[in-house]
Amino acid sequence: MELAKRIQCPCGTYLDKPEDYQLLFLKKELNEVDILCPNKSCFLRELGYVRFRLTSGIAEFDEASFYPPYVTWNAAQNGSKQTESVLKDHLREIVTRLIDWQRLDAKNGSSG
Ligand SMILES: [Zn+2]
Repeated sequence: MELAKRIQCPCGTYLDKPEDYQLLFLKKELNEVDILCPNKSCFLRELGYVRFRLTSGIAEFDEASFYPPYVTWNAAQNGSKQTESVLKDHLREIVTRLIDWQRLDAKNGSSG
């Protein structure tokens, strides 16, 4: 029997597609969107981040990455090459498709 190689959070939650992550916009003032494990009782919780910068009040992509514990855990299960390419796809989809960039623009910011 062949087991499909799946991306998984160390807590056991499978993250098969970019939609499975939970995005948290709370750190807007730090120009950062957190990528979270959807499992509320996850011990890692933060799996990665997307950074952006504001240019004339418009949010622009800066950089995105997953944190080492998540990456190395999957690399140990699936091999680093496979893991790297899948996680890269996840990040790209999150950045290009799932983040509502207009929501991050300065003019849409709440003042507390
Ligand atoms: Zn988790």
